[in-house]
Amino acid sequence: MATVRELLDIGVARLRESGSESARLDAELLLAFALDTDRTGVIAHTDAPVGDGPAARFEAALDRRAAGEPVAYIRGVKEFHGLAFGVDPRALIPRPETEKLVELAELEIVRRLVGAPRPTGSPPLRVVDVGVGGGAVAVTVAVLLRRRKMADEVEMSATDTSEEALQLARENAVAHAVGDRITFANADLLPADDARPWDLVLANLPYVRSDALPTLPKAASFEPVLALDGGADGLRVIDRLVGLLPEALAVGGAALLEIGGDQAAEMRALVAERLPGWSCEIELDLGGLPRVTILRRPAR
Ligand code: GLN
Repeated sequence: MATVRELLDIGVARLRESGSESARLDAELLLAFALDTDRTGVIAHTDAPVGDGPAARFEAALDRRAAGEPVAYIRGVKEFHGLAFGVDPRALIPRPETEKLVELAELEIVRRLVGAPRPTGSPPLRVVDVGVGGGAVAVTVAVLLRRRKMADEVEMSATDTSEEALQLARENAVAHAVGDRITFANADLLPADDARPWDLVLANLPYVRSDALPTLPKAASFEPVLALDGGADGLRVIDRLVGLLPEALAVGGAALLEIGGDQAAEMRALVAERLPGWSCEIELDLGGLPRVTILRRPAR
């Protein structure tokens, strides 16, 4: 019977050969998956023997990874902001940089709820996650609000044009016990039938330039192109949402929009043209790249 170390060495070599840039991490995660344990369990027990069943499962997982499939789709799970999300080709895999969007959203909500005195009986804040995908942003924000005991003060909606993505997002919401806290709607950007303005619009929309799609890592070709393709300049979908904001945002409202690390200047230009007089801040992600645009309506 092979040991954990022996299987890992085989896996790392195999994945390196196939061009993976994170061969060791991938192999550790996939062996942990095959053994029904976590990565720590693998690293801490390198001398342990591995049975034929898990060894075969590992072999099959290596085959899929070597063919380019993302580790997250093979495992069926991806950690995001400390939560485990179910993932599959119905939606984009949550990226670590999107945690910045979640943190800023939490800050905006808390500031509104506790930073300024709210008259008793104030209506709940209205928050919408546009292009919810598999639900990482909306579900994480809902979980953070529940932890802060603020869930009742926020009304959260989420939209997507993909019915499949919405289904996955609902599954993740239920798995994290916030299924009754988020109203999901199949809609192109904002929900169609809702006239009331939003206090907060959150969005991680597709923003990859169409001509850059073939340059993404092979793993991205397993993800829905709808979730990545931002048109000729990458900002076509974001531009449509920005155009809706004057109508859609409440007084004092804000929109938090994820962008590509190289899109800050284009984003500022787009906002200056579309929303003259609005404030536009761009926050950096953990990698130091421009990542989240915060748009605020000017005070009247
Ligand atoms: N950050 C993702 C990538 O580069 C793109 C996500 C998106 O378009 N919203 O793969």
